Amino acid sequence: MKQGLKTVFPQIADIPVERKWAGRIAVTPEMMPHLYEPAPGILAGLGYSGRGIAMTSVMGRTLSAKLLGAPAADLPFPILPVTPIPFHGIASRLIPMAAPAMTLRDRFESLTNGI
Ligand SMILES: Cc1cc2nc3c(=O)[nH]c(=O)nc-3n(C[C@H](O)[C@H](O)[C@H](O)COP(=O)(O)OP(=O)(O)OC[C@H]3O[C@@H](n4cnc5c(N)ncnc54)[C@H](O)[C@@H]3O)c2cc1C
Repeated sequence: MKQGLKTVFPQIADIPVERKWAGRIAVTPEMMPHLYEPAPGILAGLGYSGRGIAMTSVMGRTLSAKLLGAPAADLPFPILPVTPIPFHGIASRLIPMAAPAMTLRDRFESLTNGI
C-alpha cells in the first residue's frame, strides 16, 4: 500500500504515514453479498467481499423494506438458504495468499509493460 501510494502520489512520498487501519473482510464464493432470513423476522446481510461501502447502503434499504413487508421477489438481493461454504477449510487458508499473488502479478505486468 505504501509503495502504491508513493507511485500514485509521488509528491507526498516523504510524508510519513501517521495512522494505519486494517481488518478482516467477509468474502462470499461469488463475491456478492448474501441476504439470509434464518428465522422469520430475523435478517442478516453480509459478505460484501471488501466492497461494502456502497453495497451496505443498498442492503440497509433492502433489510428495512423486507421488515416493512416487501415481498421477497421485489428485493434486489435473493434470500438465500444458510449453507456451509464448500471447501471452506481449504479456501480460508488459500485466500491470504491471494493478495501477495496479485502483487506479484502486478509487478510482473509492470515489468513486461515497461511501467
Ligand atoms: C481493511 C479493509 C478495507 C476495506 N476497504 C474497502 C474499500 O476500499 N471499499 C469498500 O467498498 N469496502 C471496503 N471494505 C469493506 C467495508 O468496510 C465493509 O464491507 C462494510 O463496512 C460493512 O458494513 P456493515 O455496516 O455491514 O458492517 P460494519 O461497517 O462492520 O459495521 C458494523 C457496526 O456494528 C458495530 N457492532 C458490532 N457488534 C455490535 C454490538 N453487539 N452492539 C452494537 N454495535 C455493534 C460495530 O462496532 C460496527 O460499527 C474494507 C474492509 C476492510 C476490513
